[in-house]
Amino acid sequence: MDGEEAKEKNILDSVIYRYTTSSSQSEMENALLKETIQKLREEVDRFKKPPLMVCEIKSIAGSCATISIPNGNQFFVEISEGCEKLRAGDMVLAEQKNLTIIKKIPITKKFNVEKYVIMEKPKTTWKEIGGLSQQVQEIQEVVELPLKKPELFKKVGITPPKGILLYGPPGTGKTLLAKAVAQSTNSTFIEIVGSELVQKFIGEGAKLVKEIFEMARSKAPTVVFIDEIDALAARRMEMGTSGEREVNRTFMQLLAELDGFEPLDNVKVIGATNRKDILDPAVIRPGRLDRLIHVPLPDKDGRKQIFNIHSSRMNFADNINRADVIGRMEGFSGAEIHATCTEAGYFAIRENRTYITKDDFFKAIVKVKQEGKLEGEEFLHMFG
Ligand code: ATP
Repeated sequence: MDGEEAKEKNILDSVIYRYTTSSSQSEMENALLKETIQKLREEVDRFKKPPLMVCEIKSIAGSCATISIPNGNQFFVEISEGCEKLRAGDMVLAEQKNLTIIKKIPITKKFNVEKYVIMEKPKTTWKEIGGLSQQVQEIQEVVELPLKKPELFKKVGITPPKGILLYGPPGTGKTLLAKAVAQSTNSTFIEIVGSELVQKFIGEGAKLVKEIFEMARSKAPTVVFIDEIDALAARRMEMGTSGEREVNRTFMQLLAELDGFEPLDNVKVIGATNRKDILDPAVIRPGRLDRLIHVPLPDKDGRKQIFNIHSSRMNFADNINRADVIGRMEGFSGAEIHATCTEAGYFAIRENRTYITKDDFFKAIVKVKQEGKLEGEEFLHMFG
């Protein structure tokens, strides 16, 4: 190859090189553009799709489920294939058109628990409780001491009860005792009423119980007081209706919560009932509410103490014989003695007096007795 030929070959090579480079460049550009167009198309498709609806699973039946949509209406719908296992209470996304469940989402409906329970730092002190000295002493040992001095129990090597059950007739001071122990240990007092839990929160009871205990832990030290615990924890012969199954789910959750914390955690549970006879033994098994404390109607001395507490600021006429007044309140509960004092005050006010006579008390006693009798009859009518 002479010099001229070599020169021509070089020029040709550089033309070929430039051509192939630019064609592979435009191929690359082409691919990039295609990819961008594809992405934009997908995005447009996504914008066109109607949004999915957030719903709550109420119950599952094979490949179908009952869901509740945000306005509260319920529908029986299909679960799409490939959707993970669902349970009642799960939150899911559903197609708007036919409400087919597409997938589970990792959020559960949260209650604003504080709206549904009574939560306070009570001011009730032991001094405001008449009679019941034995009960007070026992609660101080099994609830107050472990909260105040947990290290003592560790050193001695014993575990205090996680909770106690107060049982006895209405109005005898069970709530007062629970509040007083919360006050003396500077604990948060959380009150739940068993019957409300099962009546008001149908389908939600178990979840609410779980969240109440979560809150109790976060606000510790805490005393969780479950009044009318029998409404949740009554022995059941059969579990026929869905209502009964629902109560049972709530009860199971309560047991799980009781089992889930340690005796020396700063959460204590106090159950209260007028119907110990119908309680499911599971709730008073060791490691649960295993200390049973009877809170009876006050005896003569108890009635005197309770009367003195509730009448301490009352303006008595000179002729009042306290022993005579107290003697007429045999069989009265603390709540009835308190009601008698209030009623006596009203009899005085109605007669434009600022002092209370023995007759005011006698009339008040008759009135409270009458009301108690009526309530008793109503009770018998409902349950007897
Ligand atoms: P229930 O079983 O109906 O829930 P309870 O046993 O929890 O009733 P409390 O709510 O503690 O009764 O009592 C109601 C009211 O009665 C108290 O606020 C208080 O005024 C009065 N009372 C009851 N027992 C006593 C007591 N032992 N000493 C002083 N007051 C009492």
